[in-house]
Amino acid sequence: MLVNGKNECIHCTINNCTYHAKNEDYCTLEAIKVGTHESNPTMKECTDCESFVNKA
Ligand code: SF4
Repeated sequence: MLVNGKNECIHCTINNCTYHAKNEDYCTLEAIKVGTHESNPTMKECTDCESFVNKA
């Protein structure tokens, strides 16, 4: 649920994303999709936020 435009259930520090809450480390989407770029993910580095959109 969004509160004041941010989703307090989704903490995020990716300032470069269009959906980042700017001055607070939250996402502004209702939900995100997490996926992987690996065929056999074994570490957190293998995971991606697939809802990311470059702010630029
Ligand atoms: S879409 Fe993903 S990367 Fe972008 S602010 Fe939300 S959680 Fe962070």
